[in-house]
Amino acid sequence: MKVWSNPPFEGVTLEEGYTIQQAMIEASRCLMCADAPCSCDCPAGVDARGFIRKIRFENFDGAVKLLKSDNILSGSCAYICPAGSQCAKGCTAAGLTRPIDIAALQRFVTDRERLQGMIEPAPPVRNGKNVAVVGAGPAGLGCAAELAVRGYIVRVFEEGPEIGGMLRRVIPSFRLPPAVLDFEIEFIKKLGVEFSCLNAMGRPEELLSKGYDAVFVGCGLQKPVGSDLIGSRFKQVHQALDFLTASKQGRMPDVGKRTVVIGGGDTAIDAARVARRAGAECFMLYRRTQREMPAYKEEVDAAWNDGVEFYFRVMVRSVVGQEKATGVRCARIKWNEPVPGTERSYVVEGPEFVIPCDTVIVATGQGPSSDLGLRTTSDGKIAVHKETMMASAQGVFAGGDCVTGGGTAAWAVGMGKKAAVKIDVYLKGSPPL
Ligand SMILES: Cc1cc2nc3c(=O)[nH]c(=O)nc-3n(C[C@H](O)[C@H](O)[C@H](O)COP(=O)(O)OP(=O)(O)OC[C@H]3O[C@@H](n4cnc5c(N)ncnc54)[C@H](O)[C@@H]3O)c2cc1C
Repeated sequence: MKVWSNPPFEGVTLEEGYTIQQAMIEASRCLMCADAPCSCDCPAGVDARGFIRKIRFENFDGAVKLLKSDNILSGSCAYICPAGSQCAKGCTAAGLTRPIDIAALQRFVTDRERLQGMIEPAPPVRNGKNVAVVGAGPAGLGCAAELAVRGYIVRVFEEGPEIGGMLRRVIPSFRLPPAVLDFEIEFIKKLGVEFSCLNAMGRPEELLSKGYDAVFVGCGLQKPVGSDLIGSRFKQVHQALDFLTASKQGRMPDVGKRTVVIGGGDTAIDAARVARRAGAECFMLYRRTQREMPAYKEEVDAAWNDGVEFYFRVMVRSVVGQEKATGVRCARIKWNEPVPGTERSYVVEGPEFVIPCDTVIVATGQGPSSDLGLRTTSDGKIAVHKETMMASAQGVFAGGDCVTGGGTAAWAVGMGKKAAVKIDVYLKGSPPL
């Protein structure tokens, strides 16, 4: 059972959450700053000061309503947001004692609603216009919910069998209980949003020609990148997303006694934690330094607490073995100072060595999988106008990981919601520049 890395109350755990009394005490520590850095730092635009204030007045329903209007996935985000790098980063209370545990307070009110019964949304007044959303991840859901509230008829097309994107497909259940996401999806359905699963979309313009007034694309990053070089011929070498999907679906491959995870992002961390929980000794190999790891500190701490071992400045050369992988051949490297305009170089330190293992999980990043015929940046992200969020086709908007190249769930919801506002402006006859 994971205890908060910075527990406000001895023994408060992720699984248990706050009692009313604990939530009231924590909320009472909030300084209600005029500039509310917590709210400015939330990529989904949650008014943290506002909902904490409502908790202080024991207006828990009001707090949850405010949260949901700001972030339709506020319950899920309360479990998985790297709060220390987002809302709690600039918390003024840190100067006195420690930051307010905003995520725990958010979880307290959203869990409370889930356990006590949904506060049903008011049925929106329809305006007769139709919008299609491609992808049922946080970006698509954020956009769809906001459009539905604004009166649009929204249909979400999802290529997978389930709704929720990465939150459903790969984020382990011990971090995000599926019931939390289920509840939020139920609420989105009650807003009138319709879903069409197992429906992979091609060019978004086709949806426009079928009568949709606008399209939002939030297709995320589904394809592993940079991993095809590493030992794919061996059965015990897994792509991290496939590994996490399989384990979530109860098809967890046998990881043996020792697992090596290659990578330093959140996907690598989750894969390592899942393998560790399956009983394997787990070694994470990252080619850069600890400071440069893209994974959030909270996640690294959690993996460390789970007993995952980290090795930095290790470059994996190949997987070794005959029919079965028996280890990874590595080199210790030292990075040279970066030279602007050139790819950063490194030197190899000492001879290559082999780390024995039974399983290798490759988590070296994700890229776009679908070619939707929209203009992209040099690294494959969908290019959008930074003000209007419109992509290269008229009436097609995009947001989330497919535009940012990878962020957080709150970031994706925030972008989806912002795009909904832009779509609303566009469809009300003020074409964006
Ligand atoms: C292993 C892992 C752990 C993570 N941990 C955290 C965390 O702890 N905290 C956090 O905040 N964030 C975390 N993230 C990041 C977060 O999950 C993403 O930033 C977020 O899910 C992005 O949302 P999205 O809607 O842009 O994309 P996605 O969640 O990827 O959703 C896109 C959806 O579009 C669908 N799709 C793709 N192409 C098509 C098509 N052509 N037609 C129809 N549907 C399509 C996909 O099937 C998918 O369901 C993690 C990500 C991973 C991979």
